[in-house]
This record gives sequence, C-alpha cells and structure tokens, in this order.
Amino acid sequence: MNRKSKTIMWIVIAVIAVILVSILMSDIIGAGTEIGINEFIAKIKSGEITTVYIDAYEATGTAAGGKQYTAIISSIYDMSGYESFINLLGGPESPVVNSISIELTDPNAGSIWSSLFPLIGVVLVALVFWFIMRSAVGGGGKAMNIGKTKAHVQSNLKVRFADVAGAEEEKEELQEVVEFLKSPKKFSDLGARIPSGVLLVGPPGTGKTLFAKAVAGEAGVPFFSVSGSDFVEMYVGVGASRVRDLFDMAKKNQPCIIFVDEIDAVGRRRGAGLGGGHDEREQTLNQILVQMDGFESNEGIIVMAATNRADILDPALLRPGRFDRQINVNLPDVKGREQILKVHARNKPIAPDVNFKTVARITAGFSGAELANLLNEAAILAARAGKKLIGNLELYDGINKVLMGPQKKSRVVTESDKRCTAYHEAGHAVLACLCKHCDPVHEVSIIPRGRAAGYTMTRPETDDNDVSYNKLIDNICMSLGGRVAEELVIKDITTGASADLQHVSSIARRMVTQWGMSEKLGLVAYDSDQPVFMGMEYGHSERTYSQETANAIDDEIRRLISSAHERARKLLTENRSILDNMSRVLVEKETIYTEEVAMLMKGASYKEVIEAMEGKENERRENPFKTATEPSPEHIVKESEEKEATEENKD
Ligand code: ADP
Ligand code: MG
Ligand code: ZN
Repeated sequence: MNRKSKTIMWIVIAVIAVILVSILMSDIIGAGTEIGINEFIAKIKSGEITTVYIDAYEATGTAAGGKQYTAIISSIYDMSGYESFINLLGGPESPVVNSISIELTDPNAGSIWSSLFPLIGVVLVALVFWFIMRSAVGGGGKAMNIGKTKAHVQSNLKVRFADVAGAEEEKEELQEVVEFLKSPKKFSDLGARIPSGVLLVGPPGTGKTLFAKAVAGEAGVPFFSVSGSDFVEMYVGVGASRVRDLFDMAKKNQPCIIFVDEIDAVGRRRGAGLGGGHDEREQTLNQILVQMDGFESNEGIIVMAATNRADILDPALLRPGRFDRQINVNLPDVKGREQILKVHARNKPIAPDVNFKTVARITAGFSGAELANLLNEAAILAARAGKKLIGNLELYDGINKVLMGPQKKSRVVTESDKRCTAYHEAGHAVLACLCKHCDPVHEVSIIPRGRAAGYTMTRPETDDNDVSYNKLIDNICMSLGGRVAEELVIKDITTGASADLQHVSSIARRMVTQWGMSEKLGLVAYDSDQPVFMGMEYGHSERTYSQETANAIDDEIRRLISSAHERARKLLTENRSILDNMSRVLVEKETIYTEEVAMLMKGASYKEVIEAMEGKENERRENPFKTATEPSPEHIVKESEEKEATEENKD
C-alpha cells in the first residue's frame, strides 16, 4: 500500500470513528431511561407513556412531558418485537393498545440527528462502496463494521426440537437439515444436493422462528438472523450491502444458518407496487437472490426464511437453488395443543386437577404463541390472586383473555346500554338455538372485552370444517339476531351490529360468487379468494365479469340476506318471551353458559334461572371445566361495537 492510500485510509477511519461515536451518542441521548418491560407496560396502562416505538428487540416509550423510557421486549417473549409487545398489552383488540400510538419509526427522528442522518447515510453508502471496491481489488482494510450491525448472531442456542411441541412432520423434514449442518462433508462426498433455502410458511405464532432456532440449536451452529422489515425504510443500497455483509459473515462461520424473518417485507413480487418506487426493497431482494445463487452446493450454509404468506412472494425466490424447500407450519391440532401446553407448563406450578387434554380441546384455533400466552396470563392471574398453583379457573380466564383481550370490568356501562347489549346478545343466542344447523351456544356475555360490548360463543360439536348451504343460511340468520332483537325491542337500532353485518355480507357474497350456492347465478366462481394486496399486480384484483353480472350478484346477496332477516324476525317474534327472559338474566348475571341457555329455551322464567345459577355459583368457581368436557373447538361471534355511538343512544 502506498503512502497516499494509507493517508486516505486513516482519514476514512477517522470519519468512521466520528460517525460511530455520534450514532452511539444519539442512541444514548435518545434512548431514555432503561426500565423493565413490566414497569414499561405499567407506565402505558397508567397513561404516562403515550407513544411507543418498537424495533425488533426494544420498545421506546415517550411520556407526555417528552421523557423517554426503553425496555427490552425479547427477554419476555421470543416473537417479533411488535407481536410480543402487542401480546403483552393484551392482544391487538386490547383497549390499551388502542389508546396509545404504536409506531415503527424512530421517535428521535425529529431531533437534530434527523437532519444529520441523510448526510450520514450518503457518507455511509459512499464508504461502503469504497470499501467494496477496495476489497474487490484485494486491499486489506478490515476496519469495516458498519452495515453488519443489524444481523443478530447467536451461537450456542439452547433451543431444541424438544422445545417445539407437536409438529412432528415438520421436525422430520428439518431433521435432514440438521444432519447436513452437523457434517456437511458426509453429504457432499456423496454428491448429495442439499437445499440451500428452506421456507417456513404458516400463520403468525405457529413457531416458525422457534423452529429455525431449534435447527441451529440442534446442529450446534451459529444463527444469523435478520428481519425483512429491518430492510424497509432504509437508504437505497444499504439493504443490499447489509445482505452482502450478512452472507459474507456467514461464509466465514460455516456451517451456519441465516434466518430471514418476515421475508415478505422484501420478497414481494417485484415491479408491482401500487405506490411506485420500491427501489430499496427490490435491490435488497435482488441481492438475496444473487447471494443465494452464488452458493456452491456444498457450502455449509442454509438459508431459512419465514413468512405467513407464500402467495405474495416473488416467484423468483421459490426457484430451484433458492427457497426450493417449503415447509408448512400449521396451527396445532388437539394433540399438538396439548403438547405445547405441556411444554410451556414445564416450569410453572400447575394444580394437580388441571387436565391439559381438556384445555387443548377448547382452544381450537389457538396458535402456539397464543397457548404460551394463555399460560402466562393464567400465571399472572394466579399470582394476583395470591395462589401458589395455577388452577382451572385461571386457565379458563386466561383463554378468554387471549381470545378477546382483557375484560373491561372498570368501564362504566349504563343500565340502558346493558339492556340493549343484553337483547342484542340474546337475539344471537336464541336464534342459534332455534336454527337447526347452528352450533350450540356455549357462553353469552355482556361483559365488554376489547372493542366488543358483549359476545356470544358457539361451539361446533364435531371437528369437521365442512360448511353446507343450510349451515351458512342459519349462520346468516343467527348473525342477524342481534340487530333484529334491537329492532323488535329497543325500537331503535344501534351501530353495534356493524360487525355482524359485515360478517353476514361476506358470507352471502362468498356463497354467491365462490361457492356456487345461488341458483340464479349457477355454479360459477366469479371471485377468487385472493384479497387485493398492495404488492400484487393490478390485474389480480380486476373483475372478470360484466356490470350486468355484478348487479345480479348484488341482487342475489341482498335476496339471501333479506330472506334470512325475515326469518330471524319471525323466529324472534314467536319466541319473544324467551328473548325477554334471557336478556333479563343477562342484565342480572352478565354471563350465562350452556345450561342456562338450555333452561331458558325450555321456557324457564328468568327467576328460575337466576335461582339455579346462584345455587351453582360456588360449584362453578371450584370446577370451571365442568361445562366444557366435549371434544369440540370453540368459535366465537364477536361484536365490534362502537361504544361511543351506543352511548349516544342511551336515555
Ligand atoms: P412465528 O415465528 O411462527 O410467528 P414464533 O416462533 O415466534 O412464531 O412463536 C412464538 C412463541 O410461541 C414461541 O416463542 C413459543 O413460545 C410459542 N410457540 C409457538 N409454537 C410452538 C410450538 N409448536 N411449541 C412450543 N411453543 C410454541
Ligand atoms: Mg416469527
Ligand atoms: Zn351481534
């Protein structure tokens, strides 16, 4: 190296040092007081913190006075920062979540640093290029560290396949990957081609991240992870260079795993954005593709990625030599749920009379993350009640909490609100009992949860998902029950039924356009199931039928709904006394279960039911699972009631 380039190198190093120090300083200045996550959440609940900024591992909260707090999220949950944070607050429906603004942008963006950042960005990009040029020429220069910082490296991961419960098939498929990582040579000597990319596809919370970690843990190799969303909103070129650095770093640490979480954030179909200019995303994606293509097949690197939507991914990602192996990670079945519950109960004191088989039965549709969350909620409830063991009661309340966000017991609900909600819910429940094809009612309540003022839960008797025409028609009828009861009794309608109406129209629309259940329109699928997605080609969402057909479809939908409406009205008018009795019991007791509903349907008066309930109250508190012993998943009819509007309707 000659003298001139040495001086340049020193200048560059000095500049980098200054930039690093200023970035560090900005972090320190902006970071605020570090507190525990529970204290952090308490501050949100008390209203002190009003806005929250979340990155993958940390939450930064700003209080009204401008004071900032930070807390590490990942020490509690192992999900993405945003997901677990929302869960900690009680789920997306929780009133707390709605009361604060959660952003994914930096709260310090308004400070002096925001004016410096573009400059720093330009300098950084220039430097990155400079160094790449240098290293391409063969120069030394190992000082480069910027751009690598976003990848998180974990070695000696403690996660094992045993920590991932259920999912035996997925484990088997991944076992192969583990063996390859343990001894790549054994495979390459035999000329075996090992997939370079494994894509984990499944709904959120099903353990995709956990699986990727378990593979690294089982194989005992380092785990490099980035999240697709880290690449969003970066300066053009930075994402691509990060990808390159990540792969370079991985190549030096073979065998290892690179894990790209939420790959859909960068891996969406290219050239199809509705908003134009996704340059950064595209470059990042291209770089991932280039890097994966550059692999020798015997290199000991496996790229794993996770997404909950494989259908929106750029097809280029799925080509051979890239993510050519797809593993579907599904929601757990009954057995899987039981095993997941047991895994998460390992270090929790559980009362001896708890039967996880039963808990698993009534949590159909729960993801692994939700099950973990439910046990956590139960533990919190037990601790609050001063108990030493987690019992059935806490688990049962935990289920409801996870399902609907914490109960809003503290909310003031006026008597007329209560009566209105009671009639609305009773309307649903009575119709569910009267319509032959509706699932049996499990629970009716007028205790507000999340954004719902009340809810009616029904539970199918069998596990099969087939829906027949009659079942759909009955479902529409039952969903209209709330609205119809309001029409009949309150003589006024509230906005409380808006969620019901959306539900009803979506069923009716699909009956006509997708399931060929309309005689008039016949057995033609007019719409595909695909929602319009920002990243998809325009053409995908285009109608493939004429205006005339569109009108006919609308007519059919309207006909289906209005005939169900008439039927609902007729049934409720005929059974008005049941409706009245049920809503009186609801106003009094707030929540009723299968037996009470059955009594009421047989014509019991509200007095009889209330007496029976009071007799049984103690018994239920001792054994809340007594009513939930059949093997059947639960399905919930939720109301999304705009309370403000309902309140305007009172008196
Ligand atoms: P995803 O990445 O699919 O959204 P995660 O891997 O982040 O889901 O799962 C979140 C959490 O849920 C995990 O940390 C774990 O506690 C729990 N979990 C999910 N699936 C399982 C499972 N099959 N067995 C045990 N725990 C699970
Ligand atoms: Mg994840
Ligand atoms: Zn309703």
